Amino acid sequence: MLSTGLNRREFIKISALLGLGGSVPMLGGCTPRPLPGEGEVSRVPTFCDMCFWKCAGFAHTEDGQPWKIIGNDVDLHSEGRLCTRGTAGMGSYQDPDRLKRPLLRETGADGVQTFREVSWDEALNFIADRLKSIAQRHGADRTALLNHGYGAAHFQHLMKAYGSGSIAEPAFAQCRGPRDVGFELTFGESVGSPERTDMEHSRCIVLIGSHIGENLHNGQVQTLAEAMRRDATLITVDPRFSVPAGKSKYWLPIKPGTDIALLLAWMHVLIDEDLYDRDYINRYATGFEQLKQHVARYSPEWVYLETGIDPDTIRKTAREMAAAAPATLIHPGRHTAWYGDDTQRSRAIAMLNALLGSWGRQGGLYMKESVSLPKYPLPAYPAPKSDFRAAHGNRFPFANAGVTNAIVEASIGADAHYKAWLVYGTNLPMTIPGIRPQLQAAIDSLELVVVVDTMPSEITGYADVVLPECTYLERYDDLRNSGERHPSLALRMPVFEPSYDSKPGWWMAKQLGLRLGLEKYFPWEDYAEVIDWQLKQVGSSLDEMKKIGVKNFPRTRPKYFAPKQEVSFPTPSGKIELYSQQLADKGFDPIPEYTRPEQPPQGFYHLNYGRMPAHTFGKTTNNHLLFQLAPENTLWVNPLVASERGLENGEYVRLSNPEGIVSNKIRVRVTERIRPDSVFMAHGFGHRSRRLRLTHDLGADDSELMTNVKIDPLMGGTGMRGNFVTIIKETV
Ligand code: SF4
Repeated sequence: MLSTGLNRREFIKISALLGLGGSVPMLGGCTPRPLPGEGEVSRVPTFCDMCFWKCAGFAHTEDGQPWKIIGNDVDLHSEGRLCTRGTAGMGSYQDPDRLKRPLLRETGADGVQTFREVSWDEALNFIADRLKSIAQRHGADRTALLNHGYGAAHFQHLMKAYGSGSIAEPAFAQCRGPRDVGFELTFGESVGSPERTDMEHSRCIVLIGSHIGENLHNGQVQTLAEAMRRDATLITVDPRFSVPAGKSKYWLPIKPGTDIALLLAWMHVLIDEDLYDRDYINRYATGFEQLKQHVARYSPEWVYLETGIDPDTIRKTAREMAAAAPATLIHPGRHTAWYGDDTQRSRAIAMLNALLGSWGRQGGLYMKESVSLPKYPLPAYPAPKSDFRAAHGNRFPFANAGVTNAIVEASIGADAHYKAWLVYGTNLPMTIPGIRPQLQAAIDSLELVVVVDTMPSEITGYADVVLPECTYLERYDDLRNSGERHPSLALRMPVFEPSYDSKPGWWMAKQLGLRLGLEKYFPWEDYAEVIDWQLKQVGSSLDEMKKIGVKNFPRTRPKYFAPKQEVSFPTPSGKIELYSQQLADKGFDPIPEYTRPEQPPQGFYHLNYGRMPAHTFGKTTNNHLLFQLAPENTLWVNPLVASERGLENGEYVRLSNPEGIVSNKIRVRVTERIRPDSVFMAHGFGHRSRRLRLTHDLGADDSELMTNVKIDPLMGGTGMRGNFVTIIKETV
């Protein structure tokens, strides 16, 4: 029994409190406008928050009413274009289901828990009093911030000023952490976000489990399209005939979970046939002889039995990569928490790039650069008594960021390390797999749970206090200053006044800071002052940026290595580490090994999941503009499976995992584009929160079926692809 019952919090359906019901307004609370063109039009710069890619644009209003958002032509990061979701940003601003006022949990005389709408003062005082009490009894470091998204920076600042070093985002353990650690162990640096992929110049691109075009990361889609226009060779490895697979010269429908075997076989061919970049490896790498010895046993013939990819195709594709090198990119992917050996899988991808000489070379992985932007002058943060590593214990020696699962575990019970959570912009029940009982137990144990969000996502139902943030179109955030091809700054500023009684994150962080005695860390009245000060240090100003939105700066360093340039890599050896002494010293495989994955029991299928272009997971499914494009997800099923089980295209089914957890209903899509041993669905559907009135109860949630989570021992990543499901016909 995991529940401690210390502070049992019942899930509160916010709709019950607010008395909402009836039909769902499709156009939000705003009055529909007549045809555009007759009113007073204004345009305000912003950068998009519909996903993390941060494309810059201009929001247009007419007579103060929402009109449209379009790209900013001078933004080289997005080439002046927004994707489907970006153009639908107004739909998020207009969403009638947005959180509107601060909510405080209270228990009535009958023992029933509800939310009461309260003033900002009451909500903030309540939080500050609880935090101070916890700090007095246990220390300020016992509060953790679980966060996602650009606006989280304000709360990270608050937590660091307060003396907490426990900041974690699901993006590490649940998404790109294995990739980043795998590349850091090899090159000393991660590929970053946006990824430093030089696809527009690539002559050969390998996508291994990456679905560019389905995951609409604007810049990547455009550079991939440019590579295709230039006749680059595309090789896609995927159990599913994905959108990029349909545009590829080679589609390798690999058996799920066997990627490392294929990557080692490709390295085997490159070395065996002397196709690798010998000069690059001699100059920059260490551990080649160990690698050569290691991959000798991974012949294409042996690997065929594991992957199902025939030896001839393995050899042909390796030769294609070598012929185009160094303008060959083995794409590092983004969501890489799959089978529990994912850091090693990403390391194998990094090593294959190294053999092809693509790191630091045109068409491979470029050297990124950001603007040298001074930080606003503030006192140094206090040293926290503990940080996120307190949650890890002796586990995960290569976790250089907080592991959310570990923080959840370290919050369970009366003696738990963590006593309070501040949750910003992340819907934990649908984001972290396989820990729903632990999540409930942690929430029952904590003395304080605060959730900051724009929407009544599932996690808000577990909060003591819900703080409604205004959308990105109603607030300032930090300047965009990402490391990439062209250094640039972009401005996000309010297009509208905050709707209802919502507030910007910077305001909430400051108000909490004042109540916690942290005035010296929040000397500004308005966050615009911080932005203006920073811009003036680099020869611009807020006034200028309000007109142009994006300012491009010249590079100060080359984008690629010069021929025969001496390069010191930020690894312990100063070289690209094909053999990792760091891993060997900690008792891990210094070169990736292949482990055969578990196979589904009789009658079960691999549960594969991914994205669809119209939505950023569960974050946008209630947006009325995007809802019209894609109201629910579907279950991809091979025709052989459909025939065996008597399934019709479009009929509803449910999925059950081996532990008996049954999903919400989902429509069948019968397609030959998936292997018979697998099914596929887009993530982000199956919302249980009734307050999300458009998307509630539509489609199935893959994460609730993930009870078989394989933890990556190197960095705590949560491997989610080892889950199996069977199909249950829905009886009407
Ligand atoms: S890729 Fe699309 S959703 Fe993401 S920031 Fe760019 S326009 Fe917005």
